[in-house]
Amino acid sequence: MIIAIDGPAGSGKSSTAKAVARRLNITYLDTGAMYRVITLAALREGVAPSDEGALDELVGRTAISFTGVPPATRVLMNGEDVSEEIRGEAVTAKVSEYCAPAVVRRALVDQQRRMGRGRSLVCEGRDIGTTVFPDAGFKIFMTASVAERAERRRKDFARLGIEKSIDELAAELVDRDRKDSGRAVSPFVKADDAVDLDTSGMTFDEQVDWIVEHARKRGFIPAEESYPGEKRRITVT
Ligand code: C5P
Repeated sequence: MIIAIDGPAGSGKSSTAKAVARRLNITYLDTGAMYRVITLAALREGVAPSDEGALDELVGRTAISFTGVPPATRVLMNGEDVSEEIRGEAVTAKVSEYCAPAVVRRALVDQQRRMGRGRSLVCEGRDIGTTVFPDAGFKIFMTASVAERAERRRKDFARLGIEKSIDELAAELVDRDRKDSGRAVSPFVKADDAVDLDTSGMTFDEQVDWIVEHARKRGFIPAEESYPGEKRRITVT
């Protein structure tokens, strides 16, 4: 079964999806991380978001892979561990621009579908239930109030040693949501058959329990072992 989790920036998708993957013993796929890798590669090379030719070429030679067992997954760009750098301010401020061009979306959506082929998966992003896996067995639209999302982001940044005000973070989140919802190619919208999960008043454990319980009710069967042991590292390419 594919569990598709879509939602706005800072809604808690990543941490929740990792915990769900762990509980159900299935693969976790963070599609936002993939768009962040391409953004980082483009920023390093000075490629503009409007330069589709250069972006196409860049995407073609930028290998994105994941390694490790959730929640300790790492993100690799051509073998380099960029897990922290892709969460930094420079990438976060630009990712909504670099993820929009059709050449970027086409290539990454293809790769995401390949990663999902034949395996059970928790996949999170903005267009998972609508574009990447429209046949997903369970689609969740995860939201939280702007105030709560900004506070979660503040804590994320604080862990990276960056201090930002709640107001500034709230403005950034709203701006990113607006750009993600307004783009031409697979905009961020709720799938018609997605179930709403507003996490505003919920604890983290309640969110995870809710998804696990509903996945089981919808017929999720632990058919495979993606994470057979703590020691084994898996790489998805
Ligand atoms: O989820 P995360 O905040 O890491 O996503 C970073 C950005 O990547 C989003 O703001 C959005 O611009 C883009 N994204 C996307 N489609 C996805 C996942 C992320 O456009 N499936």
